[in-house]
Amino acid sequence: MKILIASRNPHKIREISEIFMLPSLEFAGLDQYPGLPEVLENGATFQENAVKKAMTLALATRQWTMADDSGLEVDALDGEPGVRSARYAGEPSDTAANNRKLLMALAGRATRSARFRCVIALASPSGRTQLVEGSCEGVVLTESRGTGGFGYDPLFQPAGYAATFAEMDAGEKNRISHRAAALRRALDAWGRMLASNPAEWCADRRFGKLRPEPDPG
Ligand code: IMP
Repeated sequence: MKILIASRNPHKIREISEIFMLPSLEFAGLDQYPGLPEVLENGATFQENAVKKAMTLALATRQWTMADDSGLEVDALDGEPGVRSARYAGEPSDTAANNRKLLMALAGRATRSARFRCVIALASPSGRTQLVEGSCEGVVLTESRGTGGFGYDPLFQPAGYAATFAEMDAGEKNRISHRAAALRRALDAWGRMLASNPAEWCADRRFGKLRPEPDPG
């Protein structure tokens, strides 16, 4: 069965297919579906954005669809930049400007605890959705370190590690990251169902667990 990943990022699509190594599952990115609607990520929460993306694209393609939303929450900034992580310093998205703005916002602050969060939504072809989440706790440093990764990686030191995400190799980051944690939960929650007979199932967030799709008749 084919599952649409609501992303054009080949790294994300590869990471998901490597974790969901199940026979009978095949993953396709948005590039394989020309003409799909652009989904505006304007929700107030990661959950809203992930559900909106997964549901809109599942209904447009009639395919099972997985979508994620992620970002950095900083305690001393009441959770900012949060859902605005990509465009914290304004449009268009500019990583260097975002990182400068974050350092300015935290200048002189002793409390620098933060976490990356990732929410993944799975939508059935009829638009029913279910969510899983993962996070990675750490601190925001006072200056950038490292050249790997992307986004806020050079400023983020995960708890229990001396290196920033940008100083780790991709394999190490991918073992402890918020996205890896969410993907492991997704595999636990949905793997068996997706690899068996998904036509008989749906994901319904009102009930918080997977249950058989109601008979349309
Ligand atoms: P997206 O939901 O994966 O598109 O991520 C939204 C934004 O959150 C990115 O543009 C980054 O600013 C930030 N972000 C999410 N995950 C990471 C990460 O693993 N490292 C650094 N920044 C991240």
